[in-house]
Amino acid sequence: MVSARPAVQQLPAYRPGRNPADLAREIGVDRAVKLASNEVAFPPLPAVVEALAAAAPETNRYPDNGAVVLTRALAEHYGVDPGQIATGCGAVMLCQQLAQSFNEPGTSIAFAWRSFEMYPLLAQVAGARAIQVPLTPGRSGGPADTHDLDALAAAIDDTTRLVFVCNPNNPTGTAVRRPELERFLDAVPAGTLVVLDEAYREFVTDPEVPDGLEVMRGRPNVAVLRTFSKAWGLAGLRVGYLIAEDPAVAEAVRKTYVPFSVSTLAQAAAVAALASEEEVRSRVAAVVAERGRLTAALRERGFDVADSQANFVWLPVGEQTAELAAALEARAIITRPFAGEGIRVTVGTPEEDDALLAALDAVRAAAPVP
Ligand SMILES: *Cc1c(COP(=O)(O)O)cnc(C)c1O
Repeated sequence: MVSARPAVQQLPAYRPGRNPADLAREIGVDRAVKLASNEVAFPPLPAVVEALAAAAPETNRYPDNGAVVLTRALAEHYGVDPGQIATGCGAVMLCQQLAQSFNEPGTSIAFAWRSFEMYPLLAQVAGARAIQVPLTPGRSGGPADTHDLDALAAAIDDTTRLVFVCNPNNPTGTAVRRPELERFLDAVPAGTLVVLDEAYREFVTDPEVPDGLEVMRGRPNVAVLRTFSKAWGLAGLRVGYLIAEDPAVAEAVRKTYVPFSVSTLAQAAAVAALASEEEVRSRVAAVVAERGRLTAALRERGFDVADSQANFVWLPVGEQTAELAAALEARAIITRPFAGEGIRVTVGTPEEDDALLAALDAVRAAAPVP
């Protein structure tokens, strides 16, 4: 009998979120609302739909393996050299490539916890040790929801090849500000690569939260990870990118690229999305306005919600998490629970968020929460 590597056998099986159509059928309603995956609710940009149609007749050919056109468009957009860029089949694939390129058994990957669920798995697959540094309360008396960068810097040792700083943090929505981030980067040894995971950068409105591409400048051990899946609305097409200060970092990541994994359609769509930046900005502004409304409505209901800099909010409901998420699901609202910690809720359309708020009110009326 064949057997997988022990590290792989121990990986948890991927548990996809509930499919809204299945849930709606199961509980006998017309439509369920999915607020679980931080997608934007808008349909694809018109220019993206056109680009996909235009590229479709070329899909009998392999994609451009170097994603030359997309890489050039990104380089122009961000004012960097194409050599500083690596594109990937979603930012998650770039996370995996980073671990493959920089980690081997005996090394470690450091990150805050709770943060993006992928980080511990990366370490496990690479045979590296995961160094998890607990979040700290962002407000006195509040829940632990914010990076503790001093503790993260202190936890790095001479085995640490990679550090992820998810800013804003998934799932808590909090973001670190410029002085603390710069102090952290000053403290990290030159042989440790800091990856600023900015999957939600476009939704940041706090001017004190720095753009990773700015703080990266002059720091050869820093790289920024971004994605087209969230603000740009291409989650189903799978395209992300890494921009590194040192071209050698980007080159190392390109070396572990699975050939052709950014498809022809994904490349064409991403180029079209970049060219539609104005429209994306106005969509983001709508999400940000709705984020404010949803946050206020949740606080009115007694939830201790931190200011979010992303397109989701965090309900730190602790031990009530599983029960509350199940009760919402029974009312056709799909969220992302983290058992024992809290529930992450994507900012939806105003109608979707009103459905969430009504479901919360109904749950509480049925079983008042202490
Ligand atoms: C969604 C997300 C990503 C990347 O998503 P892709 O769809 O793989 O590009 C990366 N990091 C964080 C923190 C995310 O939430």
